[in-house]
Amino acid sequence: MIIILKPGTEQREVEPIYRLLSAQGIIVQEIQGSHTRMLGMAGDTSHISEDSLMCFPCIERIMRVQEPYKLAGRKFHPADSVLEIAGRRIGGGNFAVIAGPCSVENERQILEIAAGVKGFGADFLRGGAFKPRTSPYAFSGLGLDGLELLKRARAETGLPIVTEIMSSEHLAVFAQDVDVIQIGARNVQNFTLLRQVGELKKPVLLKRGLSSTIDELLMACEHVMAGGATDVILCERGIRTFETSTRNTLDLSAVPVLHQKTHLPVVIDPSHATGYWQLVHSMSLAAAAAGADGLIIEVHNNPEKALCDGAQSITPAQFGVLMDKVRRIHAIAAE
Ligand code: PEP
Ligand code: MN
Repeated sequence: MIIILKPGTEQREVEPIYRLLSAQGIIVQEIQGSHTRMLGMAGDTSHISEDSLMCFPCIERIMRVQEPYKLAGRKFHPADSVLEIAGRRIGGGNFAVIAGPCSVENERQILEIAAGVKGFGADFLRGGAFKPRTSPYAFSGLGLDGLELLKRARAETGLPIVTEIMSSEHLAVFAQDVDVIQIGARNVQNFTLLRQVGELKKPVLLKRGLSSTIDELLMACEHVMAGGATDVILCERGIRTFETSTRNTLDLSAVPVLHQKTHLPVVIDPSHATGYWQLVHSMSLAAAAAGADGLIIEVHNNPEKALCDGAQSITPAQFGVLMDKVRRIHAIAAE
């Protein structure tokens, strides 16, 4: 961290800054440029609040040299993390595909889709039991009954389950029953929930918020990891822009950018990113080509009758065609 002082700052104005920082174990070194006077700080500055420092009238601005996400950042963990979850690997060259319906609707639906995606090589089964819906009148999931159906699908197919938690009241049941706990785009800045989920020390799929910057996503991830979780998969699912032709705008460059900044695996959700099943195929291939570590795709056996997100769901057969190509593109991208 570097503090840039205003021109003409007097020594007596700087003394209290020295005292405050050295009381916190920070070594402060003065740097005198040709026109600018600066204070360089050595030591762990992650807990130093820029806001409170800016209360000193002699400070012009503060620059952080180190990213504030120590656990998620690559600096202290240069190698790619390879996560091993229920016998599946993701990250560091291992590509994993999560597939299934937006929502669990009934037993037949989830069992059929689970068997379908398993047959075409999915590594994990997705399905919402607790659904965040814009309208309070829309189908909001089967709740705990949905979770039971997911468990049945897991028992039949062997696919580990990925499902979203919405409330801390379900922490215990998710800890026991869910293989990967999803935190959705709308809860990515619910810092209490992030911490509590992290404390379960279970694998987490963390989605980027509708308007989160990449650094905000990484800070959200830091909250999860500060709770104790180590296995976090980051998910780019499209962001809000001025464009209305698609549901969101898929930020594919988030894949290489995140790979620069973090050691954690990055997956793409082409379904929520585009909102249209017709676009899922091309964006999935593009994601694999961009170096993504996996995909999370909405698959439905009867999209036109889906209770949620039918327009962006592909069928198991379409999923099969896609998987074949995606794996080949990933192999080329990983060369
Ligand atoms: C989902 O994956 O079911 C979902 C609701 O996604 P998001 O949080 O990205 O909108
Ligand atoms: Mn959905």
